[in-house]
Amino acid sequence: MPDIAVYPGSFDPITNGHLDLIQRGLKIFDHIIVSVATNRFKQSLFSIEERMEMVRISLQDTPNVTIDTFNGLLVEYAKQQNARAILRGLRAVTDFEYEFQLAMMNRRLDPEIETVFLMTGLRWVFLSSSILKEAAVHGGNIEGMVPEIVYQKLRKKFGFA
Ligand code: ADP
Repeated sequence: MPDIAVYPGSFDPITNGHLDLIQRGLKIFDHIIVSVATNRFKQSLFSIEERMEMVRISLQDTPNVTIDTFNGLLVEYAKQQNARAILRGLRAVTDFEYEFQLAMMNRRLDPEIETVFLMTGLRWVFLSSSILKEAAVHGGNIEGMVPEIVYQKLRKKFGFA
């Protein structure tokens, strides 16, 4: 049985920080399912189709990764996918509290599925989708922080040069 992890998130949009985490995850797991969440309370900038498309194009040359969406309970979804673990990223102390609560809730819901945290690469410790959008909407230069397809989509959305 291959060792599978589910990497869930909003990916609104996917950034180089997410991609870095996936590359690190592939050193540990045989296969990663990048799963874009649909039923979140969070308002998203990009539709689920747009987010999926950006994830798919950004990862088209990466083997051992599949792209999916999920709604409902993450632990149940992970089990259906035969995943042994949920992969999440940590950037700074500020991520810890939320991620800790989420991991504890998921453990309570299903003690069989472990949450595995990986540290981002140093280059991306400051990078989150929300800060990125904040910079992009005000015309900040976000080149080099996101895959080309995401850069183009943000450019279209916010109309910067
Ligand atoms: P969510 O809404 O589920 O937090 P995100 O797309 O914001 O979805 O993040 C998905 C996961 O990726 C989270 O665990 C988050 O901490 C992690 N992550 C996001 N950006 C980075 C980054 N720059 N480096 C490492 N991990 C990151």
